[in-house]
Amino acid sequence: MSKLSNTHLPQDVTIKAQRLAEFSDHQQVWEYRHPASGLHALIAVHDATLGPALGGCRMWAYESTAHALSDALRLSRGMTYKAALAGVALGGGKAVILGDPKTQKTAPLFHAFGAMIEALDGLYITAEDVGTSVRDMDWIAETTAHVTGTSRDGGDPSPMTALGVYEGIRAAVRHRLGSTELSGVTVAVQGLGHVGRALCERLATDGTDLIVADVNPDAVKFAVDELGATAERADRIHAVPADVFAPCALGAVLDDETVPALRSAIVAGSANNQLAQDRHDEELHRRGILYAPDYVINAGGLISVAHAVVGEDASDSKAWSAVCRIGAVLSEIFDRAEAEGQSPGAIADQLAIERIARHRRGA
Ligand code: NAD
Repeated sequence: MSKLSNTHLPQDVTIKAQRLAEFSDHQQVWEYRHPASGLHALIAVHDATLGPALGGCRMWAYESTAHALSDALRLSRGMTYKAALAGVALGGGKAVILGDPKTQKTAPLFHAFGAMIEALDGLYITAEDVGTSVRDMDWIAETTAHVTGTSRDGGDPSPMTALGVYEGIRAAVRHRLGSTELSGVTVAVQGLGHVGRALCERLATDGTDLIVADVNPDAVKFAVDELGATAERADRIHAVPADVFAPCALGAVLDDETVPALRSAIVAGSANNQLAQDRHDEELHRRGILYAPDYVINAGGLISVAHAVVGEDASDSKAWSAVCRIGAVLSEIFDRAEAEGQSPGAIADQLAIERIARHRRGA
């Protein structure tokens, strides 16, 4: 497929983006329509100060272009902060393809999308996200080199994500409970998928008391039979008495109903976008519950992907120790949040902004 030039990409979408509440000085936003393949996509680069803007490609049947644009703006800013605190040389971006992922995926559509990315000359790197798969990344890779998570890259990031969450739980337990050991600490894990199960295996080795829930009975049976966990109902797991509640399933689990029902001292898990709304971070803080900001604690997968992007082995000891540093980053966030009387979420955002500003100044 021939390379598209930037002139094919209408620029007026940036003006539209600037009018939305989610706009946060985004560096650039592109919209592309390719009638031959049916592609209608947006790419938002929030900030590429620290490196190429990495962020998944979401495919969703959005109600309108404005909804898709809001999502791209919000998610790309989140990626900037996540990469900044993960200590990787990447910026934040996100792409959205407007369409039904169940019925509208074709090779020509993803080829056209790849060509759109190629036209940006490496400013944006795409990856899998909600509604897209490894096969789609393979199609994209046929028209651009700026894609990760293809079948050739191999490597499931979940074990690295689980390692980061484990280190994050250790940091939170040290800070809140004053214990350097996880033995005897009770952790309630919601979701025993790729990350949740690997996390439970680590915690069980340390002698942690596990309470688990999943809507998949086989996953629960494994944790009970093999790891000595206690099973809990999926709709009650957030409310069991525990030292740590670890959401490792769905987003938006911390809302007006669940936050008042929590009976744990710490919330620390892998799920993306755990807060139903930003104000729930403040709500947890007010209730004296220590919250490990989701985008900080679940960055292990991103760190391993960042190593793969620069051609290093994503599972080698350098990537491993970079993931283990998540614990130290969270400790810094918790200490500063306590000293300044702010929520960890607010401090995490500030630290990310500070890191980018320091880099801009060349410090
Ligand atoms: P997964 O799909 O493998 O596992 C999710 C598990 O949650 C499944 O076992 C599912 O049955 C269970 N589940 C669904 N609804 C539930 C409910 N209501 N109550 C209890 N369990 C329920 O996903 P994963 O890769 O393990 O990721 C888990 C979370 O972590 C997701 O939010 C994901 O976005 C986030 N995350 C994952 C990675 C990664 O490397 N995989 C990286 C960053 C963030």
